[in-house]
Amino acid sequence: MLENTRHTETLIVGGGIIGCAIAYELAKSGRQTLVIEKHTLGSQSTRAGAGMLGAQVEMHAPGPMYDLGVQSRALFPALREELIELSGIDMELQTPGIFRVAVDESDRLDLLERQRWQTEHGQRAIWFEDEDLRRELGDLVSTGHGALYLPDDHQVRNPQFLLALAASAKRLGTQYLEHTAMTGFLLERGSVVGVKTLDGDIRADQVVLATGAWTGLLANQLELDLPIYPVKGQSFLLDAYGPPTPFTIYTHGCYILPKRNGQIYVGATEEQAGFDRRPVLRSLASLSSRAVELMPSLGGLPFAEPLAGLRPGSADGLPFLGKVEGLGGLFVASGHFRNGVLLSAITGKVMAELMNGQELSVDLTPFAVERKIRIS
Ligand SMILES: Cc1cc2nc3c(=O)[nH]c(=O)nc-3n(C[C@H](O)[C@H](O)[C@H](O)COP(=O)(O)OP(=O)(O)OC[C@H]3O[C@@H](n4cnc5c(N)ncnc54)[C@H](O)[C@@H]3O)c2cc1C
Repeated sequence: MLENTRHTETLIVGGGIIGCAIAYELAKSGRQTLVIEKHTLGSQSTRAGAGMLGAQVEMHAPGPMYDLGVQSRALFPALREELIELSGIDMELQTPGIFRVAVDESDRLDLLERQRWQTEHGQRAIWFEDEDLRRELGDLVSTGHGALYLPDDHQVRNPQFLLALAASAKRLGTQYLEHTAMTGFLLERGSVVGVKTLDGDIRADQVVLATGAWTGLLANQLELDLPIYPVKGQSFLLDAYGPPTPFTIYTHGCYILPKRNGQIYVGATEEQAGFDRRPVLRSLASLSSRAVELMPSLGGLPFAEPLAGLRPGSADGLPFLGKVEGLGGLFVASGHFRNGVLLSAITGKVMAELMNGQELSVDLTPFAVERKIRIS
Protein backbone atom coordinates (compact mmCIF):
# COMPACT_ATOMS: atom_id res chain seq x y z
CA MET A 1 0.00 0.00 0.00
CA LEU A 2 1.38 3.43 -0.90
CA GLU A 3 0.93 5.64 2.13
CA ASN A 4 1.94 8.96 0.60
CA THR A 5 2.44 10.43 -2.76
CA ARG A 6 5.51 8.81 -4.18
CA HIS A 7 8.01 10.32 -6.60
CA THR A 8 10.21 8.75 -9.23
CA GLU A 9 12.25 10.18 -12.11
CA THR A 10 10.55 7.91 -14.62
CA LEU A 11 7.31 6.03 -14.27
CA ILE A 12 6.47 3.29 -16.76
CA VAL A 13 2.83 2.28 -16.81
CA GLY A 14 2.49 -1.32 -18.06
CA GLY A 15 4.83 -4.20 -17.33
CA GLY A 16 4.60 -6.10 -20.61
CA ILE A 17 7.58 -6.73 -22.84
CA ILE A 18 7.60 -3.11 -24.03
CA GLY A 19 7.48 -1.56 -20.56
CA CYS A 20 10.16 -3.97 -19.29
CA ALA A 21 12.44 -3.37 -22.30
CA ILE A 22 12.27 0.40 -21.73
CA ALA A 23 12.85 -0.06 -18.00
CA TYR A 24 15.94 -2.14 -18.71
CA GLU A 25 17.50 0.41 -21.08
CA LEU A 26 16.71 3.27 -18.69
CA ALA A 27 18.20 1.31 -15.81
CA LYS A 28 21.41 0.85 -17.82
CA SER A 29 21.63 4.62 -18.15
CA GLY A 30 21.19 5.04 -14.39
CA ARG A 31 17.66 6.48 -14.37
CA GLN A 32 15.49 5.98 -11.32
CA THR A 33 12.57 4.03 -12.74
CA LEU A 34 9.37 2.57 -11.35
CA VAL A 35 7.14 0.21 -13.35
CA ILE A 36 3.51 -0.22 -12.33
CA GLU A 37 1.54 -3.16 -13.65
CA LYS A 38 -2.18 -3.79 -13.23
CA HIS A 39 -1.81 -7.59 -13.07
CA THR A 40 1.57 -9.34 -12.97
CA LEU A 41 4.57 -8.57 -15.18
CA GLY A 42 4.22 -9.97 -18.69
CA SER A 43 0.86 -11.61 -18.02
CA GLN A 44 -1.08 -10.12 -20.98
CA SER A 45 -0.26 -10.08 -24.71
CA THR A 46 3.36 -10.85 -23.91
CA ARG A 47 2.44 -14.09 -22.16
CA ALA A 48 0.35 -15.29 -25.12
CA GLY A 49 2.88 -14.40 -27.82
CA ALA A 50 4.87 -16.90 -29.85
CA GLY A 51 8.20 -15.10 -29.52
CA MET A 52 9.05 -15.02 -33.22
CA LEU A 53 11.58 -12.41 -34.24
CA GLY A 54 9.95 -12.29 -37.65
CA ALA A 55 11.54 -9.24 -39.20
CA GLN A 56 11.21 -10.83 -42.63
CA VAL A 57 8.44 -13.42 -42.33
CA GLU A 58 5.93 -10.90 -40.96
CA MET A 59 6.60 -8.03 -43.37
CA HIS A 60 4.71 -7.70 -46.66
CA ALA A 61 6.58 -4.72 -48.06
CA PRO A 62 9.63 -2.57 -47.42
CA GLY A 63 9.02 0.47 -45.23
CA PRO A 64 9.59 1.86 -41.73
CA MET A 65 8.18 -1.21 -39.98
CA TYR A 66 10.47 -3.55 -41.90
CA ASP A 67 13.51 -1.36 -41.19
CA LEU A 68 12.62 -1.18 -37.50
CA GLY A 69 12.17 -4.95 -37.34
CA VAL A 70 15.51 -5.71 -38.99
CA GLN A 71 17.27 -3.20 -36.72
CA SER A 72 15.65 -4.70 -33.63
CA ARG A 73 16.35 -8.33 -34.59
CA ALA A 74 20.05 -7.54 -34.87
CA LEU A 75 20.15 -6.46 -31.22
CA PHE A 76 19.05 -9.80 -29.78
CA PRO A 77 22.28 -11.84 -29.66
CA ALA A 78 24.12 -9.15 -27.66
CA LEU A 79 21.05 -8.46 -25.52
CA ARG A 80 20.83 -12.15 -24.66
CA GLU A 81 24.43 -12.14 -23.41
CA GLU A 82 23.90 -8.95 -21.36
CA LEU A 83 20.77 -10.34 -19.70
CA ILE A 84 22.40 -13.67 -18.87
CA GLU A 85 25.32 -11.79 -17.33
CA LEU A 86 23.02 -9.66 -15.17
CA SER A 87 20.24 -12.07 -14.29
CA GLY A 88 21.44 -15.58 -15.09
CA ILE A 89 18.25 -16.02 -17.15
CA ASP A 90 18.43 -17.11 -20.79
CA MET A 91 15.78 -15.75 -23.17
CA GLU A 92 16.17 -19.02 -25.12
CA LEU A 93 17.07 -17.48 -28.45
CA GLN A 94 16.78 -20.15 -31.16
CA THR A 95 18.41 -19.44 -34.50
CA PRO A 96 17.69 -22.19 -37.07
CA GLY A 97 15.34 -19.86 -38.96
CA ILE A 98 11.81 -19.97 -40.38
CA PHE A 99 10.31 -21.79 -43.37
CA ARG A 100 7.33 -19.92 -44.79
CA VAL A 101 5.41 -22.60 -46.67
CA ALA A 102 3.34 -21.51 -49.71
CA VAL A 103 -0.26 -22.74 -49.68
CA ASP A 104 -1.08 -22.20 -53.37
CA GLU A 105 0.28 -20.66 -56.54
CA SER A 106 -0.70 -17.12 -55.68
CA ASP A 107 0.98 -17.46 -52.28
CA ARG A 108 4.06 -18.86 -54.03
CA LEU A 109 4.24 -15.81 -56.32
CA ASP A 110 3.75 -13.51 -53.35
CA LEU A 111 6.60 -15.19 -51.46
CA LEU A 112 8.89 -15.12 -54.50
CA GLU A 113 8.24 -11.38 -54.73
CA ARG A 114 9.08 -11.08 -51.05
CA GLN A 115 12.30 -12.99 -51.66
CA ARG A 116 13.16 -10.49 -54.41
CA TRP A 117 12.76 -7.29 -52.40
CA GLN A 118 14.20 -8.68 -49.18
CA THR A 119 17.29 -9.92 -51.05
CA GLU A 120 17.59 -6.50 -52.70
CA HIS A 121 17.53 -5.03 -49.18
CA GLY A 122 20.50 -7.18 -48.21
CA GLN A 123 18.67 -9.93 -46.31
CA ARG A 124 19.00 -13.67 -46.78
CA ALA A 125 15.84 -15.22 -48.26
CA ILE A 126 16.23 -18.59 -49.97
CA TRP A 127 13.64 -20.33 -52.11
CA PHE A 128 13.11 -24.08 -51.59
CA GLU A 129 11.24 -26.10 -54.20
CA ASP A 130 9.30 -29.06 -52.82
CA GLU A 131 12.02 -31.64 -53.48
CA ASP A 132 14.61 -29.50 -51.63
CA LEU A 133 12.14 -28.98 -48.82
CA ARG A 134 11.54 -32.72 -48.49
CA ARG A 135 15.30 -33.24 -48.31
CA GLU A 136 15.44 -30.80 -45.38
CA LEU A 137 12.23 -31.66 -43.55
CA GLY A 138 11.35 -35.18 -44.77
CA ASP A 139 7.61 -35.89 -44.68
CA LEU A 140 7.10 -33.70 -41.64
CA VAL A 141 5.32 -30.87 -43.44
CA SER A 142 2.62 -30.99 -46.14
CA THR A 143 3.83 -28.96 -49.07
CA GLY A 144 3.16 -28.60 -52.77
CA HIS A 145 4.11 -25.07 -53.73
CA GLY A 146 7.57 -24.57 -52.23
CA ALA A 147 8.68 -22.45 -49.30
CA LEU A 148 10.74 -19.38 -48.50
CA TYR A 149 13.52 -20.03 -46.01
CA LEU A 150 14.49 -17.07 -43.80
CA PRO A 151 17.60 -18.16 -41.87
CA ASP A 152 17.92 -14.94 -39.88
CA ASP A 153 14.40 -14.79 -38.43
CA HIS A 154 14.79 -16.24 -34.95
CA GLN A 155 12.65 -16.87 -31.88
CA VAL A 156 12.78 -16.51 -28.11
CA ARG A 157 10.60 -17.86 -25.29
CA ASN A 158 8.52 -14.92 -24.09
CA PRO A 159 8.18 -15.77 -20.38
CA GLN A 160 11.96 -16.28 -20.14
CA PHE A 161 12.74 -13.11 -22.08
CA LEU A 162 10.40 -11.06 -19.90
CA LEU A 163 11.88 -12.51 -16.71
CA ALA A 164 15.42 -11.84 -17.93
CA LEU A 165 14.61 -8.19 -18.74
CA ALA A 166 12.72 -7.58 -15.51
CA ALA A 167 15.34 -9.23 -13.29
CA SER A 168 18.22 -7.44 -15.03
CA ALA A 169 16.55 -4.04 -14.69
CA LYS A 170 15.79 -4.81 -11.04
CA ARG A 171 19.44 -5.64 -10.47
CA LEU A 172 20.26 -2.18 -11.87
CA GLY A 173 17.78 -0.47 -9.55
CA THR A 174 14.36 -0.54 -11.29
CA GLN A 175 11.42 -0.97 -8.95
CA TYR A 176 8.14 -2.69 -9.72
CA LEU A 177 4.64 -2.49 -8.31
CA GLU A 178 2.42 -5.32 -9.52
CA HIS A 179 -1.36 -5.40 -9.02
CA THR A 180 -1.29 -1.62 -9.26
CA ALA A 181 -3.53 -0.07 -11.90
CA MET A 182 -3.18 3.47 -13.11
CA THR A 183 -6.63 5.06 -12.86
CA GLY A 184 -5.92 8.57 -14.12
CA PHE A 185 -3.33 11.23 -14.90
CA LEU A 186 -2.01 13.95 -12.60
CA LEU A 187 -2.07 17.18 -14.56
CA GLU A 188 -0.56 20.51 -13.59
CA ARG A 189 -0.58 23.56 -15.83
CA GLY A 190 -1.29 21.39 -18.86
CA SER A 191 1.56 18.94 -18.19
CA VAL A 192 1.39 15.34 -17.05
CA VAL A 193 3.24 15.16 -13.72
CA GLY A 194 2.31 11.65 -12.65
CA VAL A 195 -0.56 9.20 -12.36
CA LYS A 196 -3.30 8.21 -9.94
CA THR A 197 -3.62 4.67 -8.62
CA LEU A 198 -6.05 3.18 -6.09
CA ASP A 199 -3.15 3.12 -3.63
CA GLY A 200 -2.21 6.77 -4.02
CA ASP A 201 -0.66 9.17 -6.48
CA ILE A 202 2.73 8.68 -8.08
CA ARG A 203 4.53 11.80 -9.28
CA ALA A 204 7.17 11.51 -11.96
CA ASP A 205 9.30 13.75 -14.18
CA GLN A 206 8.49 11.48 -17.11
CA VAL A 207 5.57 9.08 -17.59
CA VAL A 208 5.59 6.38 -20.28
CA LEU A 209 2.37 4.70 -21.38
CA ALA A 210 3.37 1.14 -22.31
CA THR A 211 -0.07 -0.25 -21.69
CA GLY A 212 -0.53 -2.37 -24.82
CA ALA A 213 -4.10 -2.80 -26.06
CA TRP A 214 -5.41 -0.53 -23.28
CA THR A 215 -3.39 2.53 -24.32
CA GLY A 216 -6.13 4.07 -26.47
CA LEU A 217 -8.58 3.92 -23.55
CA LEU A 218 -6.14 5.60 -21.16
CA ALA A 219 -5.16 8.27 -23.69
CA ASN A 220 -8.85 9.12 -24.10
CA GLN A 221 -8.77 10.52 -20.57
CA LEU A 222 -6.53 13.27 -21.96
CA GLU A 223 -8.76 13.67 -25.02
CA LEU A 224 -5.86 12.28 -26.99
CA ASP A 225 -6.99 10.20 -29.95
CA LEU A 226 -4.61 7.23 -30.16
CA PRO A 227 -6.08 4.62 -32.51
CA ILE A 228 -4.83 1.57 -30.63
CA TYR A 229 -7.29 -1.29 -30.17
CA PRO A 230 -7.28 -4.95 -29.06
CA VAL A 231 -6.78 -7.69 -31.66
CA LYS A 232 -7.31 -11.00 -29.96
CA GLY A 233 -4.89 -13.82 -30.68
CA GLN A 234 -5.38 -17.41 -29.57
CA SER A 235 -2.81 -20.17 -29.64
CA PHE A 236 -1.81 -23.27 -27.68
CA LEU A 237 1.15 -25.21 -26.39
CA LEU A 238 1.64 -28.94 -26.92
CA ASP A 239 3.91 -31.20 -24.93
CA ALA A 240 6.47 -32.96 -27.08
CA TYR A 241 9.26 -35.26 -26.04
CA GLY A 242 11.71 -34.15 -28.66
CA PRO A 243 11.30 -31.33 -31.19
CA PRO A 244 10.03 -32.65 -34.55
CA THR A 245 12.28 -30.07 -36.26
CA PRO A 246 14.48 -27.21 -35.08
CA PHE A 247 12.86 -24.87 -37.63
CA THR A 248 9.82 -22.66 -37.21
CA ILE A 249 7.21 -23.59 -39.82
CA TYR A 250 4.92 -20.78 -40.87
CA THR A 251 2.04 -20.66 -43.31
CA HIS A 252 -1.21 -18.74 -43.85
CA GLY A 253 -3.11 -18.60 -40.56
CA CYS A 254 -0.85 -21.01 -38.67
CA TYR A 255 2.69 -21.29 -37.40
CA ILE A 256 4.50 -23.94 -35.40
CA LEU A 257 7.48 -23.18 -33.17
CA PRO A 258 9.51 -25.86 -31.37
CA LYS A 259 10.54 -24.45 -28.00
CA ARG A 260 13.68 -25.20 -26.06
CA ASN A 261 11.69 -26.58 -23.08
CA GLY A 262 10.34 -29.36 -25.31
CA GLN A 263 6.94 -27.75 -25.91
CA ILE A 264 5.55 -26.82 -29.30
CA TYR A 265 3.82 -23.47 -29.71
CA VAL A 266 1.01 -23.37 -32.29
CA GLY A 267 -0.39 -19.96 -33.24
CA ALA A 268 -2.40 -17.92 -33.89
CA THR A 269 -5.84 -16.55 -34.61
CA GLU A 270 -6.56 -12.89 -35.32
CA GLU A 271 -9.96 -11.73 -34.10
CA GLN A 272 -11.90 -8.61 -33.13
CA ALA A 273 -13.43 -9.55 -29.78
CA GLY A 274 -13.20 -6.39 -27.72
CA PHE A 275 -11.33 -6.82 -24.45
CA ASP A 276 -12.42 -10.43 -23.86
CA ARG A 277 -9.27 -12.51 -23.83
CA ARG A 278 -10.62 -15.90 -22.87
CA PRO A 279 -9.74 -18.80 -25.19
CA VAL A 280 -12.71 -19.97 -27.27
CA LEU A 281 -13.19 -23.59 -28.35
CA ARG A 282 -14.18 -22.88 -31.98
CA SER A 283 -11.06 -20.81 -32.61
CA LEU A 284 -8.76 -23.37 -31.02
CA ALA A 285 -10.48 -26.19 -32.94
CA SER A 286 -9.93 -24.50 -36.31
CA LEU A 287 -6.33 -23.62 -35.43
CA SER A 288 -5.72 -27.26 -34.40
CA SER A 289 -7.07 -28.50 -37.74
CA ARG A 290 -4.80 -26.16 -39.67
CA ALA A 291 -1.80 -27.24 -37.62
CA VAL A 292 -2.45 -30.96 -38.11
CA GLU A 293 -3.01 -30.38 -41.82
CA LEU A 294 0.39 -28.67 -42.03
CA MET A 295 2.23 -31.08 -39.73
CA PRO A 296 0.24 -34.31 -39.34
CA SER A 297 2.48 -35.71 -36.58
CA LEU A 298 1.20 -33.04 -34.17
CA GLY A 299 -2.19 -34.81 -34.07
CA GLY A 300 -1.17 -37.27 -31.35
CA LEU A 301 0.46 -34.81 -28.95
CA PRO A 302 -1.11 -33.81 -25.63
CA PHE A 303 -2.31 -30.26 -25.06
CA ALA A 304 -0.26 -28.38 -22.45
CA GLU A 305 -2.10 -25.07 -22.33
CA PRO A 306 -4.37 -22.78 -24.37
CA LEU A 307 -3.18 -19.18 -24.61
CA ALA A 308 -4.95 -15.97 -25.57
CA GLY A 309 -3.98 -12.32 -25.52
CA LEU A 310 -4.90 -8.91 -26.87
CA ARG A 311 -2.38 -7.59 -29.36
CA PRO A 312 -2.15 -3.82 -29.37
CA GLY A 313 -3.29 -3.12 -32.94
CA SER A 314 -2.96 0.33 -34.48
CA ALA A 315 -4.97 1.87 -37.29
CA ASP A 316 -2.03 2.07 -39.74
CA GLY A 317 -0.14 -0.96 -38.46
CA LEU A 318 2.74 1.06 -36.99
CA PRO A 319 3.51 1.49 -33.30
CA PHE A 320 3.34 4.86 -31.57
CA LEU A 321 6.76 5.77 -30.20
CA GLY A 322 7.63 9.15 -28.80
CA LYS A 323 6.79 12.16 -26.75
CA VAL A 324 3.28 13.58 -26.61
CA GLU A 325 3.65 17.18 -27.72
CA GLY A 326 1.99 19.74 -25.45
CA LEU A 327 1.60 17.42 -22.46
CA GLY A 328 4.88 17.90 -20.65
CA GLY A 329 6.54 14.68 -19.59
CA LEU A 330 4.23 12.17 -21.29
CA PHE A 331 5.62 9.51 -23.65
CA VAL A 332 3.92 6.64 -25.49
CA ALA A 333 5.36 3.28 -26.58
CA SER A 334 2.51 1.13 -27.76
CA GLY A 335 0.65 -0.35 -30.73
CA HIS A 336 3.24 -2.98 -31.71
CA PHE A 337 0.47 -5.33 -32.89
CA ARG A 338 1.90 -8.69 -34.09
CA ASN A 339 5.54 -7.77 -33.52
CA GLY A 340 5.97 -6.38 -30.02
CA VAL A 341 8.51 -9.01 -29.00
CA LEU A 342 10.57 -8.50 -32.13
CA LEU A 343 10.40 -4.71 -31.70
CA SER A 344 10.95 -4.66 -27.93
CA ALA A 345 14.75 -4.41 -28.15
CA ILE A 346 14.81 -1.37 -30.44
CA THR A 347 11.83 0.20 -28.65
CA GLY A 348 13.65 0.02 -25.31
CA LYS A 349 16.81 1.44 -26.83
CA VAL A 350 15.29 4.35 -28.75
CA MET A 351 12.83 5.32 -26.02
CA ALA A 352 15.67 5.48 -23.49
CA GLU A 353 17.69 7.61 -25.91
CA LEU A 354 14.73 9.94 -26.37
CA MET A 355 14.04 10.25 -22.66
CA ASN A 356 17.71 10.85 -21.90
CA GLY A 357 17.96 13.54 -24.59
CA GLN A 358 20.49 11.53 -26.61
CA GLU A 359 20.92 11.15 -30.35
CA LEU A 360 18.33 8.68 -31.66
CA SER A 361 19.32 5.48 -33.41
CA VAL A 362 15.97 5.47 -35.28
CA ASP A 363 14.11 8.23 -37.11
CA LEU A 364 10.88 8.28 -35.12
CA THR A 365 8.91 10.44 -37.58
CA PRO A 366 6.86 7.53 -39.04
CA PHE A 367 5.95 6.46 -35.48
CA ALA A 368 5.16 9.93 -34.11
CA VAL A 369 2.23 10.10 -31.70
CA GLU A 370 0.77 13.08 -33.60
CA ARG A 371 1.00 11.54 -37.07
CA LYS A 372 -2.08 11.73 -39.21
CA ILE A 373 -3.36 8.22 -39.73
CA ARG A 374 -4.48 7.51 -43.27
CA ILE A 375 -6.32 4.22 -43.61
CA SER A 376 -6.23 2.87 -47.15
C1 LIG B 1 -1.24 -15.10 -29.94
C2 LIG B 1 -0.18 -14.04 -30.10
C3 LIG B 1 0.99 -14.33 -30.80
C4 LIG B 1 1.98 -13.36 -30.94
N1 LIG B 1 3.16 -13.68 -31.55
C5 LIG B 1 4.16 -12.77 -31.63
C6 LIG B 1 5.41 -13.11 -32.19
O1 LIG B 1 5.64 -14.24 -32.57
N2 LIG B 1 6.37 -12.14 -32.26
C7 LIG B 1 6.16 -10.88 -31.80
O2 LIG B 1 7.07 -10.05 -31.91
N3 LIG B 1 4.98 -10.53 -31.26
C8 LIG B 1 3.98 -11.44 -31.16
N4 LIG B 1 2.79 -11.10 -30.63
C9 LIG B 1 2.54 -9.71 -30.28
C10 LIG B 1 3.20 -9.35 -28.97
O3 LIG B 1 2.88 -10.33 -27.99
C11 LIG B 1 2.73 -7.96 -28.55
O4 LIG B 1 2.95 -7.03 -29.58
C12 LIG B 1 3.49 -7.51 -27.30
O5 LIG B 1 3.37 -8.46 -26.26
C13 LIG B 1 2.99 -6.17 -26.83
O6 LIG B 1 3.66 -5.87 -25.64
P1 LIG B 1 3.11 -4.74 -24.70
O7 LIG B 1 4.03 -4.66 -23.55
O8 LIG B 1 2.83 -3.52 -25.49
O9 LIG B 1 1.66 -5.28 -24.27
P2 LIG B 1 1.23 -6.26 -23.08
O10 LIG B 1 2.08 -7.45 -22.98
O11 LIG B 1 -0.24 -6.49 -23.23
O12 LIG B 1 1.54 -5.38 -21.81
C14 LIG B 1 0.81 -4.23 -21.49
C15 LIG B 1 0.66 -4.24 -19.98
O13 LIG B 1 0.02 -3.03 -19.55
C16 LIG B 1 -0.75 -3.34 -18.42
N5 LIG B 1 -1.74 -2.30 -18.19
C17 LIG B 1 -2.80 -1.98 -18.98
N6 LIG B 1 -3.52 -0.99 -18.42
C18 LIG B 1 -2.88 -0.67 -17.27
C19 LIG B 1 -3.14 0.28 -16.23
N7 LIG B 1 -4.22 1.10 -16.28
N8 LIG B 1 -2.27 0.36 -15.18
C20 LIG B 1 -1.19 -0.48 -15.11
N9 LIG B 1 -0.92 -1.41 -16.06
C21 LIG B 1 -1.75 -1.50 -17.12
C22 LIG B 1 -1.38 -4.68 -18.78
O14 LIG B 1 -1.84 -5.38 -17.65
C23 LIG B 1 -0.23 -5.37 -19.51
O15 LIG B 1 0.51 -6.23 -18.66
C24 LIG B 1 1.78 -12.05 -30.43
C25 LIG B 1 0.62 -11.77 -29.72
C26 LIG B 1 -0.36 -12.76 -29.54
C27 LIG B 1 -1.59 -12.43 -28.74
